[in-house]
Amino acid sequence: MGKGAGVEGRGSAPGRVAVVTGGTRGIGLAIARRLAGDGYDLLLSYRGDETAATQAREELARFDRRVELLQADVATADGGGGLIEAAMERLGRIDVLVNNAGITRDTLLMRMGEDDWDAVLTTNLKGAFLCAKAAVRPMLRQRSGRIVNMTSVVGLVGNAGQANYAAAKAGLVGFTKSLAKEVGSRGITVNAVAPGFIETRLTDVLPQDLKETLLKNTPLGRFGSPDDVAGAVAFLVSPDAAFITGHVLTVDGGLFMA
Ligand code: NDP
Repeated sequence: MGKGAGVEGRGSAPGRVAVVTGGTRGIGLAIARRLAGDGYDLLLSYRGDETAATQAREELARFDRRVELLQADVATADGGGGLIEAAMERLGRIDVLVNNAGITRDTLLMRMGEDDWDAVLTTNLKGAFLCAKAAVRPMLRQRSGRIVNMTSVVGLVGNAGQANYAAAKAGLVGFTKSLAKEVGSRGITVNAVAPGFIETRLTDVLPQDLKETLLKNTPLGRFGSPDDVAGAVAFLVSPDAAFITGHVLTVDGGLFMA
């Protein structure tokens, strides 16, 4: 890949490999669909939902790309590092890493257990660290790569009942910017996407009155779809974003404006 060049554009990235953590449902699956359409071979990780993983592979078969699945907990060194090893072994290289796997354990701080804090911090933040650390090695060797971290507007503005999640997502912003500074000279970009309210299993559980308030405050007058987020990720890994690094791209219909 030449200086200033990125990963090839829509439909033209044959032979290129993307790893998407939590890529078997919700936003991760939409990203996988979009990147497969753009020509990437994929390694998708998930934590435990085998049914969703199998369905994802069946659905993605229509793109005629290689799609590998790996059950792995990104929050463990074996899981996070193993994921990148698996991509190298099964697909031969890694061009794009999307740190998308994430969980919530919402409750007010007074009721938040240490386990709620640890689970959210280790999955959302440490998971990204472990995967990025393993991915950067081959990317440094090939002097190119794209890393996209899935943060949240909650990490930028905070949210009552989500102190653990907001801390993890804010941590990801600092992580993104620091890593961008470390690896930029080697042709690797590191960016973050900060979705607002996106309709997935993660947000299904929110109370109806909260959903109505959020909708009322969203200038674009609708909730986001996983495809809205996938488009932002596809842009950040494309040649059009070759000169963008350390950036946080908000995808929230205008819900939170700085
Ligand atoms: P979902 O709950 O729909 O999907 C989460 C995915 O992550 C699943 O594939 C799940 O695997 C995987 N996962 C969870 N924990 C682990 C783990 N420890 N190791 C490996 N994989 C894991 O979530 P969304 O699609 O809604 O969210 C995706 C990302 O976007 C998250 O980082 C989330 O914080 C972020 N986000 C979402 C927003 C929204 O409104 N939905 C808003 C802002 C940010 P399995 O299926 O096996 O459980």
